[in-house]
Amino acid sequence: MTETLQIDIHQIEKSRIDTVDFDNLIFGRSFADHMLMVDYEDGAWKTPQILPFGPISYSPAMMSLHYGQAIFEGMKAYKSPTGEILVFRPEENWKRLNKSAVRMCMPEVPEDIFMEGLSELLRLDSAWIPAKEGSSMYIRPFMFSTDEYVGVSPSKTYKFMIFTCPVGAYYTKPIRVRVETKYIRAAHGGVGFSKNAGNYGGSLYPTKLAVDAGYDQIIWTDASEHQYVEEAGTMNLMFVIDGKLVTAPTGDTILDGVTRKSVIQVAKDFGMEVEERQLSIKELTEGIASGKVQEAFGAGTAAVIAPIATVGYNGVDYDLPERPADAFSKRVYTEIDNIKTGKIEDTRGWVMKI
Ligand SMILES: *Cc1c(COP(=O)(O)O)cnc(C)c1O
Repeated sequence: MTETLQIDIHQIEKSRIDTVDFDNLIFGRSFADHMLMVDYEDGAWKTPQILPFGPISYSPAMMSLHYGQAIFEGMKAYKSPTGEILVFRPEENWKRLNKSAVRMCMPEVPEDIFMEGLSELLRLDSAWIPAKEGSSMYIRPFMFSTDEYVGVSPSKTYKFMIFTCPVGAYYTKPIRVRVETKYIRAAHGGVGFSKNAGNYGGSLYPTKLAVDAGYDQIIWTDASEHQYVEEAGTMNLMFVIDGKLVTAPTGDTILDGVTRKSVIQVAKDFGMEVEERQLSIKELTEGIASGKVQEAFGAGTAAVIAPIATVGYNGVDYDLPERPADAFSKRVYTEIDNIKTGKIEDTRGWVMKI
């Protein structure tokens, strides 16, 4: 990549790194010293700025607060055993951000602003990238509308920003999930495939009801019949059935996860058959009961793989068997983690070195 993009950098006077306890990081609560901020005005992106992380002030009439033109991404960077900064498949996140932008009637972010802005930010805050086993730097790119206007229409001005959070190992105790048969996450023609803020706002209440009933997460089902499983909370949902990897096909109701894509590729490379197809609740619950469904897990950037212990449906709990040491979900986790952290050679071209 040619570093031709101009970025105005205002460095922090004194780093806050000494105030953070890297042995007890809480996910998403600590923020590195700097943030990237780029304004969109008069139909063009302005010069990117890197500033000390901190509050920004806005009019109460800022449009994104009212009409929800707000989108985000989530990805991770790691320190390799030799101290290099590695980012996992960032171009996938850049492309997906722009798909979300088009759907929400927002401007697309040019590749150089995303990639070079990200690289410069990580370089400046490289001391914040944890090197400890299981730790990483969570990266949050996002964009929101900034016009001061109370009319429902696309904003004319936007901000694209990136900040980062050092995060500790994600504890992956197998989760209990409940099949949701009343509320929906996404419908055909809707915005389920985009990472827009409102999708997450809408998921909180049904998730709270499931948590109150003793579950950790929801399994979303299709909006028209509640017959087919779609996603697990904010993760893609995957199964091993009769030795095959089964997951819902991407479409306008499924978020096209980078982890999902990577798990599918690794499964194929392991010589496993992959079926991207609809899976009914009937097939799932009967399959768990009969033992045909061997593994169930969520796939997403935060946990990478979140094994599922129990699927609750209509008041009945269906328990998955304990995972053997050679379970697919364990092997695929290790393979992806080894690539991300530079412990094994990246033969698939997934890692960007900074
Ligand atoms: C972000 C997200 C995922 C996972 O995507 P990754 O790119 O793997 O992190 C899955 N489902 C939903 C609804 C999401 O928001």
